[in-house]
Amino acid sequence: MIILVVNAGSSSLKYQLLNMDDESVIAKGNCDRIGIDGHIAHKTSDGRKYEADCSFPTHTEAFEKLVEVLTTGDAAVIKSMSEINAVGHRIVQGAEIFSETTLVTDEVIEKIEELKELAPVHNHAHALALRACKKVLPAEVPQAVVFDTAFHQTMPEKAFMFGLPYEDYENLHVRKYGFHGTSHRFVSAALAKAMGRDIKDLKIISCHLGNGSSITAVDAGKSVDTTMGFTPLDGVLMGTRCGAVDPSAVTFVMEKHGFTAAEMSDYMNKKSGFIGVSGISSDNRDITAAAEKGDKRAKLASEMLCYQIKKYIGAFTAAMNGTDAILFTGGIGENSWEVREGVCKDMEYFGIKIDCDLNKSTKGTLTKLSTPDSKIEVWVVPTNEELLIARDTLALISK
Ligand code: ADP
Repeated sequence: MIILVVNAGSSSLKYQLLNMDDESVIAKGNCDRIGIDGHIAHKTSDGRKYEADCSFPTHTEAFEKLVEVLTTGDAAVIKSMSEINAVGHRIVQGAEIFSETTLVTDEVIEKIEELKELAPVHNHAHALALRACKKVLPAEVPQAVVFDTAFHQTMPEKAFMFGLPYEDYENLHVRKYGFHGTSHRFVSAALAKAMGRDIKDLKIISCHLGNGSSITAVDAGKSVDTTMGFTPLDGVLMGTRCGAVDPSAVTFVMEKHGFTAAEMSDYMNKKSGFIGVSGISSDNRDITAAAEKGDKRAKLASEMLCYQIKKYIGAFTAAMNGTDAILFTGGIGENSWEVREGVCKDMEYFGIKIDCDLNKSTKGTLTKLSTPDSKIEVWVVPTNEELLIARDTLALISK
């Protein structure tokens, strides 16, 4: 069984081809600069590479190039696209319409497109990619859509509602949706397996920390609360995103700077977070390096992130009436011992104790960091959203 996983952005199209017999990656790559000029970088698991500048006026040309690279030339991995059994697409916003992985039809694409108001950057691009894929691939190849928001559709109303007039939830669909659901679902299941426990008996706090970061309370395998909200801007401090701020600060800054709504959105999404606080970089590695050299604002940015995560651990432990395990994933969660230590230190009240030496040497591998006497287990669990999308797609077409 061969599955193609597609993650389309407004100007990019990342892909992975997986052999689901052993869940191995056959090839992966990225078509980017779509609508600008175009570039493809492709590599196979046996080390062959192809890279070229191309003309990608739209996602369709990028898909055509992807087909060409997969099937012809030195870095080809299949003879024809009909060897692909199905395609799975990552979709950011499924709102309340999609609570599970769904087979693609024209109606489904239209609904994803309609949701672009709730995810302007992503959903329109997803719809373009879905149409382009349909145009380019053989008609008999089924396609599935896997939503970042779907895992969080189990949140109770008291967790997803904002304290705004109820009519705006009904009419404008303003509520917390939550994101990174594919990752939180994958890592929480992987953690239960690693612990040798049934996920139904576990309360997990899943910390996905990357350029975008979110923390989710997973009770019995279901998301019951999460830090990202109506959009992926809410919650903790991120690379360029501010996370939660007092809404009055937003209107105040808009007034003072004379910002339009779009300019304010840009300020909060692209100029805040690590880059905004430190003035140095949006990248955690740069922040850690600068903090070590004594840069006060970089140190502050790092401390803010750890402090905010700590507070959510407290909040979600209260929400679930307990926590069995905390997991770290994403680029920062899997690799930054500094952030993990910053979060887990001074948590004796919760009974959290980690092996600091083991934490320091752990990078990107499934590892239990907590000591045997820690009341709550602490783990690093590498995420793999593409694999979950492929598994979901396979499960759906096998039905
Ligand atoms: P995205 O959210 O875009 O998928 P990633 O999950 O790849 O991003 O995370 C990117 C973040 O991970 C960056 O802030 C980067 O500095 C951090 N990161 C990646 N590798 C390391 C590392 N070895 N040590 C510390 N931080 C790292």
